[in-house]
Amino acid sequence: MTTSVLVLGAGFGGLELSSRLSQVLGDRVEVTLIDRAAAFVFGFSKLDVMFGKRSPEAVRLRYSDLVTPHVRFRQETVTAIDPGARRVTTDGGTYEADVVVVALGADYDIAATPGLAEAGHEFYSVAGAEALRHVLPSFRSGTAIVGVCGAPFKCPPAPSETAFLLDEYLRERSTRDDVRIQVVIPFGTPVPPSPATSEAILAGFAERGIEFVRDRKVAALDPATREAVLDNGSRLPFDLFLGIPVHRVPAVVAASGMAEGGWIAVEKGSAATRWPGVYAVGDVTSVGTPKAGVFAEGAARAMADQLIARIRGESEPPGYDGTGSCYIEFGDHAVARVDVDFFSTPGRPTGTFTEPSAQLAQDKVTFGTSRHARWFGLTAD
Ligand SMILES: Cc1cc2nc3c(=O)[nH]c(=O)nc-3n(C[C@H](O)[C@H](O)[C@H](O)COP(=O)(O)OP(=O)(O)OC[C@H]3O[C@@H](n4cnc5c(N)ncnc54)[C@H](O)[C@@H]3O)c2cc1C
Repeated sequence: MTTSVLVLGAGFGGLELSSRLSQVLGDRVEVTLIDRAAAFVFGFSKLDVMFGKRSPEAVRLRYSDLVTPHVRFRQETVTAIDPGARRVTTDGGTYEADVVVVALGADYDIAATPGLAEAGHEFYSVAGAEALRHVLPSFRSGTAIVGVCGAPFKCPPAPSETAFLLDEYLRERSTRDDVRIQVVIPFGTPVPPSPATSEAILAGFAERGIEFVRDRKVAALDPATREAVLDNGSRLPFDLFLGIPVHRVPAVVAASGMAEGGWIAVEKGSAATRWPGVYAVGDVTSVGTPKAGVFAEGAARAMADQLIARIRGESEPPGYDGTGSCYIEFGDHAVARVDVDFFSTPGRPTGTFTEPSAQLAQDKVTFGTSRHARWFGLTAD
């Protein structure tokens, strides 16, 4: 008997899930993978594009190259989800399946930050990163703010990484002395679960003259005065604003009634929603880990392994453990790593820091190439 699995979203979570099911179950599973985009782009590649390190084309992993057996890719936009009926409508048709997995990620609500579209830039979308690639070369003096407009947001270290990479970018162009860099983050420290990581980032900021504005969000930009208005009403003048926009579930998820308190609630070990046969993984959920690819991947892999065991009539492996490792750019080709554990001690995540090095920069490259190979069916493991 073949189990049909419908995976909505071909990002970190959807790609990991589809490739794992296909590789382990073979023709006992038929996966349909739907995404509106033509290509996958790693979140961290947006920083490479923005700072001109890689071309937009070089970072696109085109779904047309996907050769994973038993995975049927459809480039369509999901327009309705009926979780009770396990029925999904797209601009290309209607699908029903034994198992439905929502892995549609988080969308951005630019309008939730008045003035952001007129006076600032965001670098969290591919289009935003591509646009900045053409803006940064003409920014030679003044104040640059890297500002978070809402929480939760993807990849909590990314604002700090952006500040380090901007510092490097300006030093390479001999304009660093003419620029003030400020980072506005809604936490007390850059990476709260790991004090050692936060200390290293703050030491790096101090060394490079990057200012850290803690416990604040950017509520609005004033296009007339070119000031960022923080959530306590204080104002910071800027010449260049690099924003992390407010995140929300994709509109189709909101319309489905699956989001509670903003995100899809799941049972944290199994990724099960309250609808039988319907699961959700990654940024679209409120599972209790940060919104990051490694956690989406981990949840998807654990969910796949439990489904595989059920299909084979074996006992189910333990569910998702809430652990993951994030690479952190420190500039100058040095990358650090933080290994975080969100579930072992409820409410008290812990993290272990590994100092930045060229070796970890190489490990990060391997992380990307290994996923590309595995997810697109280019390798056997
Ligand atoms: C600048 C930046 C740096 C980052 N760095 C890192 C990092 O170093 N490490 C890390 O682990 N994470 C990083 N991230 C975060 C990471 O990219 C995301 O957390 C991760 O992609 C989430 O995976 P996901 O599967 O939940 O969603 P996504 O990967 O976002 O996938 C969701 C998919 O759903 C599709 N979709 C959405 N709506 C529809 C619809 N209606 N119809 C059809 N398709 C739809 C989208 O096109 C998308 O492909 C970074 C993010 C950014 C922005």
